[in-house]
Formats: sequence, structure tokens, C-alpha cells
Amino acid sequence: MNHIREKEPIFTLSAGPVAAYPRVLRALSSPIQYDYDAYFQAFYESVARKCSTALRTKEPALILHYEPAAAIEAAATSLIGPDDVVLNLASGVYGKGFGYWSARYNKELVEIEVPYNEAIDPQQVEDAFRRRPDIRIVSLVHHDTPSGTINPAREIGATVRKHGALLLVDAVSSFGGMDIHPGDCNADIFITGPGKCLGGAPGVTIVAVSDRAWEHMAANPKAPRASVLSYLDWRDAWSKEKPFPFTPSVAEVNGLDAVLDQYLEEGAENVWQRHALTAKACRAGMQAMGVKLWAKTEEIASPTTTAVRVPESLSDSAILSAAKDLYGVAFSAGRGDTLGKLIRIGHMGPVAEPFYAVIAVSAFGGALRCLGQKIDLTAGVEATMAVIDAAKKK
Ligand SMILES: *Cc1c(COP(=O)(O)O)cnc(C)c1O
Repeated sequence: MNHIREKEPIFTLSAGPVAAYPRVLRALSSPIQYDYDAYFQAFYESVARKCSTALRTKEPALILHYEPAAAIEAAATSLIGPDDVVLNLASGVYGKGFGYWSARYNKELVEIEVPYNEAIDPQQVEDAFRRRPDIRIVSLVHHDTPSGTINPAREIGATVRKHGALLLVDAVSSFGGMDIHPGDCNADIFITGPGKCLGGAPGVTIVAVSDRAWEHMAANPKAPRASVLSYLDWRDAWSKEKPFPFTPSVAEVNGLDAVLDQYLEEGAENVWQRHALTAKACRAGMQAMGVKLWAKTEEIASPTTTAVRVPESLSDSAILSAAKDLYGVAFSAGRGDTLGKLIRIGHMGPVAEPFYAVIAVSAFGGALRCLGQKIDLTAGVEATMAVIDAAKKK
């Protein structure tokens, strides 16, 4: 890659895709098997079952052979029929985006949108059902990554179930980094992938689908068939007895297997704990330096991504370039409506390790200082260390 003039980051603290665990990199380079060989079919079934162990569901998970964004679009086209009124919950760019997909297929779109530094209030969902008892499907992004904020999925899920509607949850950047599973939030379609908190490659998607959602798709006259986007076509692919409708991404399945081993062997609770601690240390350091959090309250700040405001007099790109050029640290910019307003520090997978918060805070502070901002870098680093040391003493 010598012909590329941009320097490779030394520390990738992005909001995804993220650096993968070494064992995942090794698995990605294992032999490519013939998908119809009995060996691969049995292996595939074992991976689908391992997904369900991680998701804490009974049925083997659906594995889709494209990135999560495509799997969410596929969910919209498979699930939403011409008679469906859809309630879309938007607290950020991904939430808003789902509404555009939904509008292609639904009868009517009802939307609740909050400022992108706030979370959806479950009471708003309750009120929406009161006004529109005909809502059939609700869509929620648990962690809207370009905002770095978390929505109360459990409470919203309970409300949706009470009213008998189906709930689609995008948990792409939260599952594996915090305590959230399809059963916790009554999700009928729960979408996640290995490329964010699980520390794998971003090319496949893991989905948990409820019986009610399968029934709804089977009854949807517009649900695509003989299409890679068809959930129904992929439904039975987990079984070693059943054919694949299209060629699965063999290398990515090898990587997925390793990602799940990493997660399950380390223990979910331990993984969530280090994500939460890294984020807490990062928030403490940023605030001690005088940098403002993007999230309106710290309670809704994500444990897998810290979003901070870009100081008024600076541009996001100047800060990102300085952090990269001076220290080799890569952060993420905002996206869509949050682009230019915030910078995101990812705490996902292998870099959800508390000491990376020191790297993040010192690189961010150093970049601001180099751009002429008066910030107290020492206070930032001390506050970060204080959070880490307090947790380690326990
Ligand atoms: C990353 C992400 C996706 C999927 O985006 P890809 O472009 O497929 O990686 C979807 N939703 C959320 C909330 C995400 O963070």
C-alpha cells in the first residue's frame, strides 16, 4: 500500500468498522470451503446456533451475507406490507433513514423524531398508539451511532408488545457491547453484526426473528422471493439439511465463528463491563478538559461510543487530522445531520479496553491544544486515570 499517501492509523478508535481481534483475523484467512459440502453445512449450522447462544434466543439465528445496512433494508422490504402503518422512531441518522425505506412499502408512516442529542421517551410511543391504534410495526434504533445515544429499548419494547404491534430493533452498534438481547426488548426482528462491538469484520449480519414476524412476512404479498433480500428465502439456511438460496460469504462465516468464540469465552458480562468502563473514563476525561458531551444527559450516552461536541471555533476535520497526524489516532466524524457538529470516539471490540480512554483523551486534547484551544490536558488525563484506577481497586 506504499502508493497511498495517507498514513495508516496506529490506533483506530472509530465508531465502526473497528479493529478486529487477532483470532478473527486468523479465522478470516482459513480455507474457503465449498458451501454444499457436508462439512461446511454442518459448520454453518453450528455458527447459527452459536449466534443464538450469544443472542439468548431459542431458534438458530438468521445469518445474512451482506452488511447490516443491507439487512435492515431487506427487513423493511420483507416485513412491511401495503396494509401496514409503521411507527418510525428517530433519534438520529439511522433512525431517520429507516423511515425512507419504510415509506417505499408501508401504507402510512407515522414518525416520532427527537433532537439527535436526546432519546425517545417511551411515553411518546404510548401516546402514538393512543392516537393511532392501527400501528402494526414499530422501528427502533437502539444505539443511533452517529449520535452516540441509547434509546430505552426495554420500555419501548414493552409498550409495543402491549399494543400487539411488531418491533424491529437495529442493535448493530450496541449488541455485544452492552446488555441487550431480542428477549429483553420484545424484538420481533433484532439485527446486529460482527463489525462493531463484537470486534469482527463488517460483511455479514446476524438476525433474530420471532414467529410472529415470520408469519407477518409469509402473509405479506409484496415480500420479495427469489431475491438475496428475501428473509423468507434465507429462513431455513441455518439447517445442514437445507440448501443455501445463494452463496454464503464463507470467509465471513469463518470470522463470525471466531467473533462468537471470543465473546462467549470472555463472558458477555465481562465484555459489557469493559465497554462501560472505557466509555465512563473517556467521558470523565473529556469533561475534565472542558470538552462537552454531545448527549443531553450522561444517562443516555452510549457505552460503546462517546460523542463530543466540536468546539465552536474549530472544524471537525481539523481536529480529526491533527489527532491522526500528531498521534496516529483515528476517530469518527458525525454523519448526515450530525456531521461537523460532533466527533465520535469508538469503544468497540478490542479497543473497549479502559486504557484506550487515556489514548483517546490525550490525543483529542493534544489535537485541540495544537489548534490553539486552551484546554487542561493534565486534568483530562488525571480524570480518565481516576475512573480506571477506582474501578481496578474494587
Ligand atoms: C454500523 C451501523 C449499521 C450498519 O451500517 P453498515 O454500513 O452496514 O456497517 C446500522 N445501524 C447502526 C446503528 C450502525 O451503527
